Amino acid sequence: MQEKVAVFPGSFDPFTVGHESIVIRGLNLFSHIVVAVGYNSSKKSLFTLEERIQMIEKIFEAYPNVSVQSYQGLTVEFCKSIKAGYILRGLRTASDFEFERAIAQVNRMMDGGLESVFLLTSPELTPVNSTIVRDILIHGGDASMFIPKGINIADYIKPHLNR
Ligand code: ADP
Repeated sequence: MQEKVAVFPGSFDPFTVGHESIVIRGLNLFSHIVVAVGYNSSKKSLFTLEERIQMIEKIFEAYPNVSVQSYQGLTVEFCKSIKAGYILRGLRTASDFEFERAIAQVNRMMDGGLESVFLLTSPELTPVNSTIVRDILIHGGDASMFIPKGINIADYIKPHLNR
């Protein structure tokens, strides 16, 4: 069977149980998933690129068909460079859909061979998003229920709070 490689792009600041669920479900469709952490120098993130990559690698350490890479620039160019034929994204709400629709259509205009595949979020994970998780962490709250098991988010947030 032909290798089906998908890229799951995002900023993952931080990676949540919502993201984890999309990757695990995506493994039923694809032979390999590359979690691609987008790097945008003008967008301020809470966690450094290295911290985000380290956390995601730890989450999927038992999954040989999930890897983590960072990239800069256009997602279509990154997909081409690693010969991935699919972009995997999660859909939570109608506004996610409108946003994703435009991006996926433009991506396909730029590269007709690249298909975007969307998975609807599990109902209980719909409200989980990185922005809310960041807010909880910045204000000293316990966000562990939103972060995949195996990651002690309190350790990662500490250096960012004592600045
Ligand atoms: P971006 O900054 O590009 O929105 P995110 O890291 O927020 O990147 O999200 C990456 C992908 O994960 C997007 O497709 C987003 O819709 C999806 N996603 C985020 N949170 C959830 C969730 N709770 N359930 C399902 N998909 C999600």
